[in-house]
Amino acid sequence: MADNNHNKGKAHEHCSFCGAPATQVGMIIHGQEANICDNCAERAWEIVQQEMESRSRNEAASTIGEAMALYTPQSIKEFLDQYVIGQDRAKRYIAVAVYNHYKRLMHSLANPADHEDDDIELDKSNILLVGETGTGKTLIARTIAKLLNVPFAIVDATALTEAGYVGEDVESILSRLLQAADYDVAAAERGIVFIDEIDKIARKSDNPSITRDVSGEGVQQALLKILEGTVVNVPPQGGRKHPDQKYIQVNTRNILFVAGGAFDGVQKKIAQRLNTRVVGYGQQQKVAEVDRDNLLQYITPKDLRSFGLIPELIGRLPVLTYLEPLGRDALRRILTEPKNAIIKQYVRLFELDGVKLTFDDDVLDYIVNKAIEYKLGARGLRSICEAIMMDAMFEVPAGKRKTFRVKLDYARQRVEAMHVA
Ligand code: ADP
Repeated sequence: MADNNHNKGKAHEHCSFCGAPATQVGMIIHGQEANICDNCAERAWEIVQQEMESRSRNEAASTIGEAMALYTPQSIKEFLDQYVIGQDRAKRYIAVAVYNHYKRLMHSLANPADHEDDDIELDKSNILLVGETGTGKTLIARTIAKLLNVPFAIVDATALTEAGYVGEDVESILSRLLQAADYDVAAAERGIVFIDEIDKIARKSDNPSITRDVSGEGVQQALLKILEGTVVNVPPQGGRKHPDQKYIQVNTRNILFVAGGAFDGVQKKIAQRLNTRVVGYGQQQKVAEVDRDNLLQYITPKDLRSFGLIPELIGRLPVLTYLEPLGRDALRRILTEPKNAIIKQYVRLFELDGVKLTFDDDVLDYIVNKAIEYKLGARGLRSICEAIMMDAMFEVPAGKRKTFRVKLDYARQRVEAMHVA
């Protein structure tokens, strides 16, 4: 191809693309039968980049298009059922929201010109999941991303601060998503972001501290922009493919945001609202029906506002649903039923070493009882199982046994020995 003297263009040479003489350009690169000047080479590179971006956009669109052609809200819920126990109402809401979100996305990709002047603008259906810790909020969001095969990132709202404070800026949410997408911007722009602990950035108006509330309203305002749909300059943060690029532009218009939080204390606000509403004739019936033990199921946007979320942010998370606290039955099912249930995972691990692992039924009941005692929801199940299985996992691979049966006494001893009892 080009020889080493490419920059010493001779006076009579021309760029074969734009026709400019060597004397008027910075550099001429010689090919076998043609020359190209630095301007044209640069322009050609831009064209290649644009083409690659557009191809990758189309590929992402067709992948999602193919996935969506296969799904209905019902089949999305059926997929969730394989991984998430209970939480029927939340799963239905999410199935519909996800279906609509990606239908809208397909529509806008097929009709890019419609964006501004479409008379019916299909709104984005970002989701807010309210429920105690360990009830499956993150699991649901993660499972949806798995179903659609789109990039997925989890961020903790408590780590976010307004620009300038120590901590992570709101843009870091998109850095995470870009990383999950392996820096494929088009894929990231169709991804899913789970924002955990959104309740922790509520405005604390009764905060006695005189210092500014760095994790409150300012962060909500900053989040708002990203949820609304905007082009954000994202610092690549270790981006391999763009080492020389300062920022990557990411359009958040089609990213699906799922926010989750426990909203501890919101029950009081819900109770207050329900109480004030029931004053008056003919409402007596309703009061009797209210399930006082599980007030979260009556949550409305108004309660979120009383809790300290700003109305604009609530408006940008229009699909509001709640997750039930997990009872004994649900926890017992979580141990063994989901596709990747914890017990199934241990059985598989031992199987890989040629050992048949079994658990007595009363061991499973014991694990559930301990999880309830610790009040950690399903999250506690794994740590209790780990405590029980640690010694076995250490010893069994080196031994000769072909079976391993976990009995109640064994389980109890391990848990007590780990000082978690
Ligand atoms: P959070 O509601 O705090 O986001 P997670 O979704 O992270 O809770 O749940 C923690 C773990 O507990 C999950 O990884 C999963 O193994 C298990 N889990 C929680 N809820 C459920 C559920 N409803 N069905 C199946 N597994 C669950």
